[in-house]
Amino acid sequence: MSKNQAVIELTDKYGAKNYHPLPIVISKAEGVWVEDADGNRYMDMLSAYSALNHGHRHPRLIQALKDQADKVTLTSRAFHNDQLGTFYEKVAELTGKEMVLPMNTGAEAVETAIKAARRWAYDVKKVADNQAEIIVCEDNFHGRTITAVSLSSNEEYQRGFGPLTPGFKVIPYGDLEALKAAITPNTAAFMLEPIQGEAGVIVPPEGFLRQALEICKEHNVLFIADEVQTGFGRTGQFFACDWEGVKPDMYIMGKALGGGVMPISAVAADKEILGVFDPGSHGSTFGGNPLACAVSIAALDVLVEDDLTTRSRELGEYFITELKKIENPIIKEVRGKGLFIGMELYEKARPYCEALMKEGLLCKETHDNTIRFAPPLTITQEELDLALEKVRKIMSK
Ligand code: PMP
Repeated sequence: MSKNQAVIELTDKYGAKNYHPLPIVISKAEGVWVEDADGNRYMDMLSAYSALNHGHRHPRLIQALKDQADKVTLTSRAFHNDQLGTFYEKVAELTGKEMVLPMNTGAEAVETAIKAARRWAYDVKKVADNQAEIIVCEDNFHGRTITAVSLSSNEEYQRGFGPLTPGFKVIPYGDLEALKAAITPNTAAFMLEPIQGEAGVIVPPEGFLRQALEICKEHNVLFIADEVQTGFGRTGQFFACDWEGVKPDMYIMGKALGGGVMPISAVAADKEILGVFDPGSHGSTFGGNPLACAVSIAALDVLVEDDLTTRSRELGEYFITELKKIENPIIKEVRGKGLFIGMELYEKARPYCEALMKEGLLCKETHDNTIRFAPPLTITQEELDLALEKVRKIMSK
C-alpha cells in the first residue's frame, strides 16, 4: 500500500465525513509546490481557499513564528500581550478604520460582525431588541456556524440543523432594486462578499458595490464587506471593495490575514460601530494571541513590501486571457479578477480536477460546475506558464 493510501485509510477510519478531499496526502510544501506522502510533486492552485496568498511556508512568516514561539504563544485576553497593539495598528492603517476586534476563523469574524451590527442597531439606531434585520445575498458563503448557515440560500447547508438563527433577508446578488425594497426601519446591515467565492467566483455588475453603499448610507444601514476570501491582494486590489473605491462600514477578514501559517481573523470598523462591545459582551480565548498576531504582522508587511496585490492583478490578467483562449465546447465561461479565477463548465468539474491532479495541478471544484484557479500570489511567471501548460493539456478539446 502506498503511504498516501495508508494515511487516507486512517483518516477515513476515524474522521467525520464533512469534506470530500481529493485523494492526495500533502506532507511537505514550499511556495506554490506541495509534495505528497509518496514524494510526488504538485502545484497548488487552490491556496487553501485563498488562505495561502503568501505561498506555503513563506520564510519571513516562518521566522516570525519561530521567534514568537521562543517568547510567548498564548496569554488569553485576561492580560495584554506585546504583539496585539502592533497588529491592531497595521489592520487599522490598511482598512482606514479606528477599531479592530481579533478572532480566529472567518466564520467567527462573521458572527462578530453580525453581533456588532445588531448591537449598533439597538444602541445607536434604536431598533428594539430582537427586531434587527440583516440583508444578505443569494448564493452567499459566510461560513458553517449555525448563524452563518442560517443566512445561506443553500438549503443543503441547513437541512436538519434547525432551529436556525432568525433575522436575515436574502436578495439576489447584484440587484439594487431588491436591496432598496428589502430595507426597513429595522435593517441593521447589508452583508456581502464583494466578489462571491464559494458561489463560483461571481463578480457583481460594475457599479453595484458603489451604488449599494450609497443606498445603505441613505437609509443608515451598515455596509459590511466579507473580505475573508477576497482580501489581501487575492483579486488584484488589496481588498476587492477597492475595485469600486468602496470603503465599507465594516471589514470582515480571515484566511490570508494569517499568511497560511496561523489561524487569525478580525473585524475592523469605526468606534461608533465596534465601540458597542463592552467587557464581557464578546470574546475568544485564542483571539488576538501573540503567536497569530506576530505571524499576521509579518504577513501584512510582506503583502505590502512585496506588492503582492499588483503581482496578483498583472499575473491574473495574463492567466485569464490565456485560459479564455482554450477552446472546448464544455467551457461555459472564464471569469474573475486578479488571481481569483473561475472556469465554469457545462459539466461537473470534479472529474477535471481529478485529471488535473494526475497532471500535477491541485484545483478544487466549487459549486459543482466551476474549477477555481487561485494560486499563491507569489507564483512566478514561469510557474504560471507551467500551470497553464497542464491546464491546456487537460481542458483543450
Ligand atoms: N466568509 C467567506 C467569504 C469565506 O469564503 C469563508 C470560507 N470559505 C468564510 C467566511 C468562513 O471562513 P472559515 O472557514 O475560516 O470559518
